[in-house]
Amino acid sequence: MRGNDEDLLMIPGPTNVAESTLRAMSRQMINHRGKEFGEILTECTENLKKVFRTKNDLFILSSSGTGAMEAAIANILEPGDKILCPTYGKFSDRFKLIVDAFGGAPVELPIEWGDAPEPGLIEEALDREDNIKAVTITQNESSTGVRVPLEDISKIVKKHDVLFIVDTISSMGGDHIPVDDLKIDMCISGAQKCFSLPPGLAFISVSEKAWEVINRTKRRAFYFSLPAYLKSYKKDPPETPYTPALTFYYALQNSLRLLLREGLDNVITRHQKAAQATRGAIQALELEFFPKREDLYSVTVTAVRIPNGVQDKELRGTMQKEYGVLISGGQDKLKGKIFRIGHMGQVTEKEILTTIYALEKSLKKQGQRIELGSGVEAAIKAFT
Ligand SMILES: *Cc1c(COP(=O)(O)O)cnc(C)c1O
Repeated sequence: MRGNDEDLLMIPGPTNVAESTLRAMSRQMINHRGKEFGEILTECTENLKKVFRTKNDLFILSSSGTGAMEAAIANILEPGDKILCPTYGKFSDRFKLIVDAFGGAPVELPIEWGDAPEPGLIEEALDREDNIKAVTITQNESSTGVRVPLEDISKIVKKHDVLFIVDTISSMGGDHIPVDDLKIDMCISGAQKCFSLPPGLAFISVSEKAWEVINRTKRRAFYFSLPAYLKSYKKDPPETPYTPALTFYYALQNSLRLLLREGLDNVITRHQKAAQATRGAIQALELEFFPKREDLYSVTVTAVRIPNGVQDKELRGTMQKEYGVLISGGQDKLKGKIFRIGHMGQVTEKEILTTIYALEKSLKKQGQRIELGSGVEAAIKAFT
């Protein structure tokens, strides 16, 4: 039996962390109001802006990704404010729950899981409803493996006077999401997915237009007050309003250096190849994708229907116990119906081929007619 720290994490977060990033974390604490931390904070913020491809302000919060989702809503919302929330999975649903929790009025657009919101549907809702303050979109719906194309939605949102809030927690740093080109007003991401970091940090960019709204809103936020973050960042040396999770900043500094040394475009291409390889294997094994159409397949997580005769827990159990490979099951109503392979962060051909081999063997163990090696053979094509 393998030790857990040898397991390959092929789940939609947390992902495997580079050795040099783990080492960067084992160092002494420093004064978080001093020059050294100011330099770390500045470097991390500037490097994150490169990954987000934005000139907007960007803040690092000491929380998991959901903290930044909450920050986005809490800083723009007054009781009764309407926010348009298309829901098509667990995470897009979460925006609606947060709006609700802060006394807002979510205007829900329920969409079948496995599908993505049609731009026309969003336009219709914006034309129909008065005074919508913002639209929330989960660019990469990790619960269904669906990637939402943002270009047309962005154009529609811009025609209306509403904020464009986008969750890229499981895709920023793995997929092409140019925040400024897409005119995203608040873009949210998190540490433990494509950034290959331990969970504990979240990121949020804030446009001029978002600031205008924030500055005339009686905020619900205190710990996540964005004006407080801005004020502290403008100090010399730059700071955060409250004690930052220092250890995670050491890790972030290293992981962003690794990412930019490899080059953002190269990193994205590596993710695209990993996705292509995984899809090729799934197809060769004659399994069925969960997303409705091919143009909706995510670059960082592949969701697959569990075939008849296969037990979800047993499948994943064999993969972990016998091959040291962790994949995810379905969430909520998809429990037992799909499995999900995360291919984000430090993924190369080594990780993908190991995963596909483990999948083939584990499916075969449950009596599926699998020609061993056919998935691997298909996957290899993406890398040659
Ligand atoms: C993981 C994830 C979240 C939640 O992030 P936490 O770090 O668990 O708070 C939100 N949205 C998406 C798309 C995710 O993949």
